[in-house]
Formats: sequence, structure tokens, C-alpha cells
Amino acid sequence: MTAIDMPDGRLFIGGRWEEGTGAEITSTFPADGSLNRTLRGAGRADGERAIERALRAQADPAWRGMKAHERARILHRIADGIEANADRIAHIQTRDTGKTLRETTALAASAAGTFRYTAAALETLDDALTVPRGDYLTMSVHEPLGLVAAITPWNSPIASDAQKVAPALAAGNAVLLKPASWSPLVALEFARIVEAAGLPAGLLSVLPGAGREIGNLLVEHPAVGKVSFTGGTSTGRMLARQAAEKLMPVSLELGGKSPTIVFADADLDLAIAGVLFGVFSSTGQSCIAGTRLFVQREIYDDFVARLVQATQALKVGDPFEAATQVAPMVHRDHRDSVAAMVDQARAEGAEVLCGGSAPEGLEAGAYYLPTILAGLSNSATICREEVFGPVLCVLPFEDEADVIAQGNDNSYGLACGIWTRDFPRAWRVARAITTGTVWINTYKQFSIATPFGGEKDAGIGREKGREGIRAHMAQKSVYLDLSGQPHPWARWP
Ligand code: NAD
Repeated sequence: MTAIDMPDGRLFIGGRWEEGTGAEITSTFPADGSLNRTLRGAGRADGERAIERALRAQADPAWRGMKAHERARILHRIADGIEANADRIAHIQTRDTGKTLRETTALAASAAGTFRYTAAALETLDDALTVPRGDYLTMSVHEPLGLVAAITPWNSPIASDAQKVAPALAAGNAVLLKPASWSPLVALEFARIVEAAGLPAGLLSVLPGAGREIGNLLVEHPAVGKVSFTGGTSTGRMLARQAAEKLMPVSLELGGKSPTIVFADADLDLAIAGVLFGVFSSTGQSCIAGTRLFVQREIYDDFVARLVQATQALKVGDPFEAATQVAPMVHRDHRDSVAAMVDQARAEGAEVLCGGSAPEGLEAGAYYLPTILAGLSNSATICREEVFGPVLCVLPFEDEADVIAQGNDNSYGLACGIWTRDFPRAWRVARAITTGTVWINTYKQFSIATPFGGEKDAGIGREKGREGIRAHMAQKSVYLDLSGQPHPWARWP
């Protein structure tokens, strides 16, 4: 696919396609650095226009008063549009992020599924009659929050865009979507699909641009009623501070340093395949990547030797090739920061069992070999901090108590993998690890129906599931008098 097939670079500002007035953004193909598109990102004036148009569109009774089943129909049409354009979306995303075409195709399907699930969930949400303590009806109903800012990272744009936009629209809000600067194009293509699906103009804006400029505006603007953020922990912490000033709800999906635990009784073939997929798919650029591998001492040497052999057999290369398992990272700058973290680990005494460098012959791209590090303690810098690249730390453990202590000894709490044939033990460990998600004898599996989110530095709040729509609504209590009598306190008439 050539640059000519890329979105034209105009932004979607409150339902109109307009040139941005912010700083220039350059999207390149990470496999060889070739240009996809340059565009002007959203500046403050663009953001302010988007907010004004969103306020008008959201307040329109045609949207606010739209019945759930009618709103659901729009969500289904968006899903239809994503499915009809899945190949194009996948190609754009592979060019924009370097992810394998196989993965971006799956992400497009998942985005369509998110809209379908959300449509179905929306039609089945109930409000409640609560128990009255007098002669009145008491009701608990839900209202839209108004304007929701959705701020997303570059690693899985179409899927994270859908995960934020679908429930926010289902709840009756307008959405201001700010994608990351390294991957602005997929969200713009998504806007075109949403527009064609007949969402009333103004309800969605797509505003790629600098976090400090357009991101800040969205978070601080008094008209914005919620920020749904996915990204790094330090950015999330800063947004949470800004949101606190406004007493605005935020949901934060942040980083991870997830433990994967292999007990000696595990099916080791299953465990090797699962560990490889869990850490090296998406070239490790995954918040839930299982980056700390704990292997029980009695199988440690054999298991790690087999794992290294399997890692060295992974196919690294062109993301458009069907056989490729490990594609380039999103950007050479990001690859360099991953390489710097591995170098620091070496300086702290890490033994590099495989990888630890860029692959030969692919120097023009943002490639880095799948890397396994040993000989470190759980407190080493690279075992504490998120790398967001294809780097695995292996550590031995003695028993259940030891691995629970080591697994929890980290500031993040996003995910955990457990490999064992002993189900009661898997259950005990799953309950004892402080984390948002646990996979037992599998890893990195998702259902839109199942809530997702983190503990500790991995975030606040949950996305997905039926409650994902409610998270974009305000609860309201309504009391309706049934007595027809003046209140006795007034002694009137
Ligand atoms: P990032 O925090 O640098 O950026 C995320 C988004 O925030 C981008 O759109 C960015 O432009 C914006 N931003 C930056 N500064 C801002 C500011 N001051 N105000 C408002 N917005 C601002 O993260 P990234 O490098 O794009 O993504 C990688 C991170 O995302 C990793 O830490 C990864 O773990 C995390 N992530 C988490 C999940 C999850 O669900 N928990 C999923 C994917 C990625």
C-alpha cells in the first residue's frame, strides 16, 4: 500500500474535515522509515472549536433523547463500516504502527465486535425502581456525562479507540478522541467510518496532536466531564492531578510489569508457547506483556534453555509477511529507548541469554530482537520498570509463598499468568496476586464482556463489560409523589 491510500491528513473537528493548526506530525512506516503522511496536528483553537460543536451536538434532544435501541442501531452501523473496511484499516494501522498485518486485522475485527457488544449491552441496560420509604416512587436513572475526552496510546489504536468511543457514545455523550502522535492515521480513518454510519455531526472529533497542547486542553476544559485515558503511568498520574482540580472522573489504563509463573508441574509445551506469545507478540509493546517470568527452581535450567531455543526461532521481519511473528517497534526512538534499558540491565549484571541487539540486515527499521535476560533480582531496574518492548526477565522461585511475594513486589498490578496442573493452587495464587487480570494456563486472551483494568500503578477504573457504558454516565435519583397531599409540615392548606 502506498502513501496515496493513507487518510489525507485533515482532522475531524466537530463533524467537519479541517486542516489542523497545531505542530506538524509525521507518520512513518517503522519497518523502513518511509513516510506515510505528514499532517498538522490539532492546536488549541481546533480543540476549542471541537468542544463548542460537541456541546451543541450533545445537547440536541435528537441525540440526548434518542432511544437506546436507535442509538444501538448507529453503533451497529459503525461495526458494519469497520468490518467492510477491515482490510484498509489493518493496512493503515500496520503502516502507522509497524504491527503485523495478522494482528492489525484481528484488532479491526475486535473493534467491530466492541461496537456490536456495546450496542447489545445498551439495549439491555435497566434503570431501577428503588424501595420507597413513603408514598412516592423512587427511581435510579442514568444521564450522559456530556463531553468525554478519550486519550489513547499508539500500540493498538483501532481497538483502544473503539473501546473508549463505543461506550461513551452508547451513554449519550459526545467524544473528543486524541490519538497518539506516532499513530494518527487509524483514528482519522475510523472517523470517516463513523461519519458514514450516520452519527450526528459534532458528536465525535478526532484530534491528533501534542499531549501537552491538545491533550492538556481536553483535560482542563470545564466543559469536559470525563477523561478516559490509556497510556503511561507518569502521564496518567499527571492527568489525575489535573482532573482532581475539577473533581472530574477519570479512568486510567496504565502500564504493567506483569508476572508469569511456571510451576514445576505445568504442561511445559503449553507454558513455553504461552510465555512466548505473552511477552513477544506485538513486539512486547503491550501493557499486559508478561515481562517477569518466574520459573520454579527444579525446572528452571531446562525450561529456560527450551525457552531461549524457541525465542531464537521466532521469525523477525516485515509486518506485511504472513510468517512474521516479531515486527518492528513503533518508532526508532522507541527502539533506542528499549535498547538503552537493556544496556542498563547489562551494567547491573544481567546475562543476555538471547537477543540484546537490533537484528542484522534490518537496520533501516525500528527492529529489536526478542531478548531474554537472566541473573538479575526482582529488584533490578529492568524488573521494576516497564520496557514496552520485546524484553523478558527470567527469575527462579522456590515455592508458592515465595512467588506470591516476588510477584506482588512491584509497583504495577495489571496482569498475571499462572501455569500449573494444580487447579486449587492456581486459584490460591490467582487470588493472592494484586492485579486486574489473571490468566491460568493461557495468556493475553480478551473478551469485551469481561472488565479490564489495573491495580496500583497500573490504573484506576475498569473498561469493557456492561458497566463500561455506566462508567460514562451520572446516576440520578428521582422521587415522584403518589399521595397527592401537601406535606404535613407546612400545615397548608
Ligand atoms: P503516553 O502516556 O506517552 O501517551 C498516551 C497518550 O497521552 C498519547 O495520546 C499522548 O499524546 C497523550 N498525552 C501525553 N501527555 C499528555 C498530557 N500532558 N495531557 C494529555 N494527554 C497527554 O503513552 P504511550 O507511549 O503513547 O503508550 C505507551 C503506554 O501506554 C505504556 O505505558 C503502556 O503500558 C500503556 N498502555 C496501557 C494499556 C492499558 O490498557 N492498561 C494499554 C495500552 C498501552
